[in-house]
Amino acid sequence: LVSRELKDTPTIVRIGGVPVGGRGLVVMAGPCAVEGEEQLLEAARAVKAAGAQVLRGGAFKPRTSPYAFQGLEEKGLKMLARVREEVGLPFITEAVDTRDVPLVAEYADAIQIGARNMQNFRLLQEAGATGKPILLKRGLAATIEEWLMAAEYILDSGNPNVILCERGIRTFETSTRFTLDLAAIAVVKENSHLPVIVDPSHGTGSWRLVLPMARAAVAAGADGLIIEVHPDPARALCDGPQSLHPETFDRLMGELAPVALAV
Ligand code: PEP
Ligand code: MN
Repeated sequence: LVSRELKDTPTIVRIGGVPVGGRGLVVMAGPCAVEGEEQLLEAARAVKAAGAQVLRGGAFKPRTSPYAFQGLEEKGLKMLARVREEVGLPFITEAVDTRDVPLVAEYADAIQIGARNMQNFRLLQEAGATGKPILLKRGLAATIEEWLMAAEYILDSGNPNVILCERGIRTFETSTRFTLDLAAIAVVKENSHLPVIVDPSHGTGSWRLVLPMARAAVAAGADGLIIEVHPDPARALCDGPQSLHPETFDRLMGELAPVALAV
């Protein structure tokens, strides 16, 4: 179902009113985690002013340490919904467990499946069954074939609205948090009709590297980007070192426009 052999026209997935895939570049941006209404509102206003079309923010956070901030859960979803009204951006947020899918689907415009859950097949099926657009992140150690087969689970659940997201994979390299596989964009485009976006924030782990990798992803043909932006990265509860300051995000958006026009 994900193959171009079956369908040769690009799939366009709508998040709120925003089309992802086909033509044009969609930028999703916001904090790694929803920390409070003020933080979220400030981030949302800033990314919207800079030209982002979708707000991101985690309410359920998959953290490496069980003692790290786990997210505001339903309170966070409510904040996202209020900020959506106030700022006028649809939002995407992660569901980490099948038990949370109905709650997340009640609020969100799109459901993110995190890298650590790429092969959580029950979660793929339950999230797929909501009919909501699904952003499927590539697993930390998943081949492109495995990633596409995970997407197949969602399409097979009757939901064609899948967006793939390259977010870096584990390699022997230690100078970046993960190794961003930009060739994956071209490989996916060759084999599938699904839209593919890139997450240069998790893909590098460092805000400085987000800038060149975002430009490179667009040049390589990505349909969009998902970027972490925090009003005060130094105080972020999650992923501060890779989060862009709003001013830096605004500069990046200016740099992306000519690259997008050239591809
Ligand atoms: C995130 O988007 O904040 C996140 C946890 O991403 P990933 O699943 O790619 O690590
Ligand atoms: Mn993050």
